[in-house]
Formats: sequence, structure tokens, C-alpha cells
Amino acid sequence: MTTTTSRPDSAAAVAGAPIPRPGVLDAPLYVPGTHKAGDDPSVPPAILSANENPLGCSAAAIEAYRAAGETLHRYPDGGSIELRHAIGEVHGLDPERIVCGAGSDELITLLIRAYAGPGDEVLHSRHGFLMYSITARTVGADPVAAPETNLATDVDQMLAHVSARTKIVFVANPNNPTGSWIPRAELERLRDGLPAHVLLVIDSAYAEYVEADGYDDGRALVDAGENVVMTRTFSKIYGLAALRLGWAYAPAGVLDALGRLRSPFNVSSAAQAAGVAAVRDRAFIERSVRENAEQRLRLTQSLQQLGLEVPPSVCNFVLAGFADEAAASAANRFLLGRGVITRVMGAYGLPRYLRITVGTGEEVTRCLDALADFLKS
Ligand SMILES: *Cc1c(COP(=O)(O)O)cnc(C)c1O
Repeated sequence: MTTTTSRPDSAAAVAGAPIPRPGVLDAPLYVPGTHKAGDDPSVPPAILSANENPLGCSAAAIEAYRAAGETLHRYPDGGSIELRHAIGEVHGLDPERIVCGAGSDELITLLIRAYAGPGDEVLHSRHGFLMYSITARTVGADPVAAPETNLATDVDQMLAHVSARTKIVFVANPNNPTGSWIPRAELERLRDGLPAHVLLVIDSAYAEYVEADGYDDGRALVDAGENVVMTRTFSKIYGLAALRLGWAYAPAGVLDALGRLRSPFNVSSAAQAAGVAAVRDRAFIERSVRENAEQRLRLTQSLQQLGLEVPPSVCNFVLAGFADEAAASAANRFLLGRGVITRVMGAYGLPRYLRITVGTGEEVTRCLDALADFLKS
């Protein structure tokens, strides 16, 4: 089982009907993780399939979201000014070089639309985040996958796969779904090896979770030139996935292109208000980092004790490796029956793995108990 499917041919085959631009119908559909499982509807499932924050979000963000309900008849601030200033203040970045989007997915899409088209190549690592290749196809560009080493981005391989057609290089650091990361010096080596006209996008969706020495979200590389962009999201540690909110830190030329392509009111007022409160609530982020690290360690060690392979992860999820694809999908089905939702990884080229989001202590226990029963059965 994979998490993408091709669109049915019949959708494109109605004689005389409008035909989408080249590439659109070649794009596989992204199938999000399910949020439903278990036989007993009175027991809520443990949703460990989408790397959401199991602690929810900042209470101040919910309050700000509710207050935004009073002004639903007004258009949002098209420049997300207060939010960009709050992000800039908290992260020590120039708000004029920040652009907000409806999730970082929107910004990734706009970057691809701005810099790639038919015949161009969009480079990513073999098990890189799926939206890079899916979205590249929608504009008629060709996604190119560079092999990884030990499930991590290999800078030499990335550089070896740059061609005259390469327009954008995506690196998720750390990467989803592998949980691996590369140090700042390696990112610099990648940037230094790229032609100046190739855009390097550093997707730091999980930056807040990383405690490793030598890790950097990529901001210094953005400052150092004209061809590096960093993207961030409020969907993961901030726990605001439902609101669709992300941002990018970018050089002037890229900001200009994104500013022309994005729709004028791409971020809702409620998302902006909640985002301002969320980014200022550092206590919630610190607690989330702490509890994640604790439960990730426990999940990793217990999975290993169950005999499963667990590649090192610095994120809020881990991969669990089974003997083969059949074992991984049987485990996934068994877990679903017990109300525990994980994610199969066939679409990422990792068919013998499940990706498991680090849940609350209770959710981790439910997952481990169910897996222990599965492995006994
Ligand atoms: C979840 C995720 C995103 C997308 O986040 P949104 O802001 O919700 O669109 C981007 N990149 C990676 C690597 C992710 O895992």
C-alpha cells in the first residue's frame, strides 16, 4: 500500500472537455494520514500519523483564534505585518525578509511555480518530503531523486545530480520521514557547489525539535546570498496544523517573486492572530521539546527492544523497520484495529517501515503495547 495514487485516467479522458496544462494530470495525489481507527467509537484513536503536536497548541493561541471570530467580516491584513514582526522578534530575523503562507506547503508550491516549469528539474534526496516531487510534476518539471547514505541527505550525491536543467534543490533538514539531519557545514558545502542561478530551499519544518550540536535552521545561508530560502511551519511543534500557517525567510529577489504569485489574502486573520500568540509562547515550545525528547527516547528504545530497526531521529517521529513490506503493512493494519494510527511509507520508497509520530506518554504506551501483541501473534 502506498500513500499516493495516480488520478484515474477517466478524469482526463472525456472527449472535448478542457485539458489541464502538461504535468497536472501526471502529479500523484498526496493522500494524508487518516484520523479514524479502532472498533470502539467511544475510544478516541491515538493519531500518530501526521507529526502533529500531541500536546495541542498554546492556550494563548486558542484565545487569539476565538477573538478573531469577532471580525470575520473583514479581510485579513494581506501583508501579515503583525505576525511577521512577531516572528522576526522571536527568531531575531528581519521581518521585511519574511513572507507568510497558508502552510509551508503553499510557499513550497509558490517557489516551484516561480522557478521551475516544463523541462526543468527539481532535485531532492531519495526519501525527501513527498510534496517536492508531487508539486514539481504539477508544473511540468521533472523531479530528480539523489541517493541518500544511511537514510540521510548525501551532499556529494546531491551535487552529482545537479544538471543544466536543475532549477531548485530541496533539502528538508531535518528530513521527514527519515528523521535525519545534516550539519550546517554540509549545507554550506551544498550551497557552495550549486550554480548561483539554482535556488536552494532549506525546509526547516522540524527545526525547533533539534537539539544536536552543529545543527542550524539555515538562516545564515539565506543572509549570505541570493539563492537560499528557509521555510518554516506552524503545523508541527506549534500545533496549529488546522489553521494552515507557514513562513519563509528569503532574499529580496525571491520575496519579490513570491509576493507577485501569492494571492493577496493568502493567510486568514484567525491564522495570523493565533500565530502571533503561538510564536510568543516560548514556554509551550520548551515543554513540547522536552516531552518529545523524553517520549522519543522511550519509543525508540522500546521499539528496539521489540526487535525493530529504528534509525536515529531528531524529530517528533521515528521510523520503525520491519522484516519486509508485508510485515510493515500487517503491523499497520493491526495497530489500526487497536485504534493506533501510524503511516505506511511505500510512497517514500521505504515500504518496510512505518512512521510513528511521538505521542503523549499514554499514546506511546498504547502503540508499544499493540505492537508487542502484534509481534507475539
Ligand atoms: C509537515 C511538513 C511540511 C508542511 O507543513 P505545512 O506548513 O503544514 O504545509 C513541510 N515540510 C516538511 C518536511 C513537513 O514534514
